Amino acid sequence: MNTPLFSPSYRNARAHFLAAASACGARVYTQALHLFGAQGELLAMDVAVQGPPDASKVLMTTSAVHGIEGFCGSAIQTGLMQHLALPADVAVVHVHAVNPHGFSHRRRVNEDNIDLNRNFIDFNRPLPVNADYAEVHRLLLPAQWPPSTADQAELEALAQVWGERRLQIAITSGQYQFPEGVWFGGLTPTWSHLTFRKVLQAHLGQARHIAWIDLHTGLGPYGHGERIFACTDTGTALQRARQWWGPEITSVQTGTSKSVPLSGPIQMAIDQECPAAQYTGICLEFGTVPLAQMILAMRAEHWLALHPEAPPELCTSIREGMQQAFNPPSADWQAQVWAQGLEAARQAVQGLCAPA
Ligand SMILES: [Zn+2]
Repeated sequence: MNTPLFSPSYRNARAHFLAAASACGARVYTQALHLFGAQGELLAMDVAVQGPPDASKVLMTTSAVHGIEGFCGSAIQTGLMQHLALPADVAVVHVHAVNPHGFSHRRRVNEDNIDLNRNFIDFNRPLPVNADYAEVHRLLLPAQWPPSTADQAELEALAQVWGERRLQIAITSGQYQFPEGVWFGGLTPTWSHLTFRKVLQAHLGQARHIAWIDLHTGLGPYGHGERIFACTDTGTALQRARQWWGPEITSVQTGTSKSVPLSGPIQMAIDQECPAAQYTGICLEFGTVPLAQMILAMRAEHWLALHPEAPPELCTSIREGMQQAFNPPSADWQAQVWAQGLEAARQAVQGLCAPA
């Protein structure tokens, strides 16, 4: 079965999302990013709101915090507007394409090479320092691609000494010293960061109970949706999350997740913008390829961004690697993703409606 919810481009995905919003009577709010997309199209963060504007219980979903992962997130959001039943007192806020530039151009990062999920730090404080990243940066993005055998051996030797987990943290937890590097968190709040805060203020200010499912791809077993706990409160919020989404909820803090503790994840915004609300949230992270392959795909794509003179065959194979890592072109994978996305959203709505 080919799930028609999945689109071949950002432009197409946006059109499907807006059509589904219109069909279900959702109110749509558009914030334009004044840059062009890969097909010359308008880029925007679109918000579709279903249900009463004054609802105290709100489910929010977000797609494309990591641009290219938006193919999956957008499909789930579009499907939810068609298939998710809502009680009268629950509203849903779908935030489509938090990073529209990355979505359209099939990059994980934004227009300034920034990983938005590392950009929600307090920029009034000194920038975090990722000393391990500084040691591997040169090896991650060498002058030539593919990397030389010597560079590869040096990285493998470091993995032996540090262990895989420390290496994963060094590369992917976020860094603020190498603007052209991988998993760069930025030096100031991005357009997406500031716009997302406005969305929270505008559409969740009245909420007293918020559930949030942040949709991602690229980590974990192929087709499996890992439910990664995404609240700062590891007491009652974790208990609630387990009741809603099941005991298999993982945590980056305890090492049960395929992910690692992040610097400046987007979830930091909710405590700051909606302090009066009781918040329960997960990242729903769909697995694709093995971790080492995903990291290699990201390094190659960053290398390509720095080397636009690369030969066309290399360019094509690097872009293909990104697709496999973040948007596998497989009907089975798409069907698995959609089923798990719908289930998680239904569980969230039930959880919001359950007595405290
Ligand atoms: Zn992601």
